[in-house]
Amino acid sequence: MVARRLPQDMIRSAKMSRQAHAMSGNSPHSRDIAYALHPFTNLRLHESRGPVIVARGDGVRVYDDGGKDYIEALSGLWCTSLGFSETRLADVAADAMRNLPFYHQFGHKAHGPGIDLAEALIGLAADIGGPGMAKVFFTNSGSEANDSLLKLVWYYNNALGRPERKKIISRVKGYHGVTIATASLTALPHVQTGFDLPIDRILHTGCPHHYRFAEPGESEPEFAGRLAEDLEALIQREGPETIAAFIAEPVMGAGGVIVPPAGYFPKIQAVLRRYDILFIADEVICGFHRTGNPFGSQTFDIEPDMISVAKALSSGYLPIGAAMVSDRIYQAVADHSDQLGVFGHGFTYSGHPVSAAVALDVLRIYEERDVAGHVRRVGPHLQQALGRFRDHPLVGEVRGVGLIGAVELVADKATGRAFDPARKVGPHCAARAEAHGMITRAMGDAIAFCPPLVIDESEIDEMMRRFAAALEETWRMVREQGLADA
Ligand code: PLP
Repeated sequence: MVARRLPQDMIRSAKMSRQAHAMSGNSPHSRDIAYALHPFTNLRLHESRGPVIVARGDGVRVYDDGGKDYIEALSGLWCTSLGFSETRLADVAADAMRNLPFYHQFGHKAHGPGIDLAEALIGLAADIGGPGMAKVFFTNSGSEANDSLLKLVWYYNNALGRPERKKIISRVKGYHGVTIATASLTALPHVQTGFDLPIDRILHTGCPHHYRFAEPGESEPEFAGRLAEDLEALIQREGPETIAAFIAEPVMGAGGVIVPPAGYFPKIQAVLRRYDILFIADEVICGFHRTGNPFGSQTFDIEPDMISVAKALSSGYLPIGAAMVSDRIYQAVADHSDQLGVFGHGFTYSGHPVSAAVALDVLRIYEERDVAGHVRRVGPHLQQALGRFRDHPLVGEVRGVGLIGAVELVADKATGRAFDPARKVGPHCAARAEAHGMITRAMGDAIAFCPPLVIDESEIDEMMRRFAAALEETWRMVREQGLADA
């Protein structure tokens, strides 16, 4: 009975939204409500609230269909590193599409843009630290890159005759994607709840957020040491011979822009080396200069065996990601593919020639315009500007590195006590920021900043003015509703 009634309700609801659309005069707004199923959205709320329709972009700003401008403080989804109006990339895409609109890389086929991009990426990542990267496998997204790396890890261990070594360790609050395997790595409840996740073989260890999780009086190095001990204890409990890899973002993004404590990664890496466990660096946000170096691994002394990239690889202009592996892994995988007859993995659009041509030009632009130098120059300006909010009664912590940062709002500045998540103080602040013309997202009550890498000082100042107005309004709301202790 119930099973039969549910679809009827859904059909009725869909019919109602289509009717609403018909009644409201066919506007884009009502057509969106009628037909689109939005990612990471409360779908029922969307039916009443509807979308903000983003009509165009220019530099670090986007404009809605009413002409209102917003500074994109999050580069869309941490991706549009070159801003929203790099027309040179449109020309490259048009040329590439005219020349070869599609070709694949299956079964010994190759094409110019794919070859050039592979060479350029390995050129950047060959001396990342540790073994360096030797080969690149193209995907369409960060999730696919991490998913592919997991499959490579399993294939690699089968190649070495270690079929029991399959478990992957990620960290609480880590974000690695939304496919079945990568959502299992992503240790954020809203990504797993309702989806029957996580799958087995996935383990989670502690989150390196000193402000939230350190013991009273514990220094950053002590906290990092304790996290490394916890990791070792987990490995011992599970059996070291069953653990294949550890995956980490150099700076955690969606978990709240969490910058690791001093000395954290070398301590973690020492534990992994003791047990021959691979290190996967998820560079999907940090890759391509976000932290002031080509890769976050270089900023935080990580020597990875494998890395994933996406987002700023194409400045978000076209979908493309990549999974890169060291020579040691490649050699074992290559031997195994020879034994099995094929490396049986690949996407129709792996290394799509138009995406690859655009990504290659993005890498050229980074080089030609010294985007790395620009980040090192303006990054401190962003960090200082964010730092001025430290004294605000609503602000518990300000953190960041390069051109990424966060301001965490708390109920009690003295103790760091967090707000009840149900009060949605962070989302309120993000909504007020949007009203003042700054798009960001609240990760819990941490307001994230990850602007296009091309942002300049005056644009940072304008972004801060808009945020300051939102913070004041949030503070007023918190006081009116009696939510704060201070
Ligand atoms: N890894 C990290 C660190 C990310 O931030 C994201 C997305 O935000 C992903 C992986 C997944 O990338 P995608 O959304 O392209 O699948």
